[in-house]
Amino acid sequence: MTALVHTRAELAAELDKAPGEIAVVMTMGALHEGHRQLMRVARKRSAFVVVTIFVNPLQFGPNEDFEKYPRTLDDDLEACRAEGVTVVFAPSRDDVYPGGAPSITMNPGPLGEILEGASRPGHFSGMLTVVQKLLMLTRADVAYFGEKDYQQLALIRRMAGDLELGVEITGVPTVREKDGLALSSRNRYLSPDQRLAALALSRALREGAAQSDPEVVLAAAGKILEEEPGVRVDYLALTGSDLGPAPESGDARLLVAARVGSTRLIDNVPLTLRKDA
Ligand code: AMP
Repeated sequence: MTALVHTRAELAAELDKAPGEIAVVMTMGALHEGHRQLMRVARKRSAFVVVTIFVNPLQFGPNEDFEKYPRTLDDDLEACRAEGVTVVFAPSRDDVYPGGAPSITMNPGPLGEILEGASRPGHFSGMLTVVQKLLMLTRADVAYFGEKDYQQLALIRRMAGDLELGVEITGVPTVREKDGLALSSRNRYLSPDQRLAALALSRALREGAAQSDPEVVLAAAGKILEEEPGVRVDYLALTGSDLGPAPESGDARLLVAARVGSTRLIDNVPLTLRKDA
């Protein structure tokens, strides 16, 4: 049985019944297989899994898609039931921010200023603030986040460590469509033609990751993106796994952000660099 609760008091009553560890998956709803994979990984380890569904106004910029972000609670609840989730917490804005927007918020530090942080001012501060609140409200022992939002995952890990939050943060690899497109709630904004153009992102990352010389990696990925007129690249970046400078040899990450029509999409893959490859 999956319980649906909306208020923090109702949530607390459900959490009081937890027999042991509490696992949490945070989402903005419009659930897809990527979210469901997080639930499955959580459920495998923990008997008590909480899914939060909250479109957090604090992490959207003034010209972003907060108003039009898809809201599909009935379908989301079905998905959570099918995955054996214990509690779905779908709070209102007032339940999360009873006094209005908080005056004390998280500062993401230097890692929050690059890549997505450079393109979306305030986004990571808003994201970390709500993650911290939801970790507290759900009494999370372990929380699962997708590698699809790689910088988000890195920042949440950092926050948990730097501020001794006492919660375990676990990353889950990106779930893709058969043709490579990373699953995203925003994919539903794409027309069929735009969806075809959007495939250039995963194709570029795949081609780049097949190379091992840093310059060749970027050139291979960049060429595919340039050849797709429907894609306007925001950034294509090769970094270390920690999002610092790419190493000469070893584990690295290739990340892309681009606009297809008015939809902003992000994706990333792991790769291994080799000196003198
Ligand atoms: P969102 O609802 O977009 O805020 O995402 C909620 C959680 O699901 C985040 O931890 C995301 O990184 C994760 N997620 C979203 N899309 C995917 C995907 N395609 N594969 C794996 N995790 C994902």
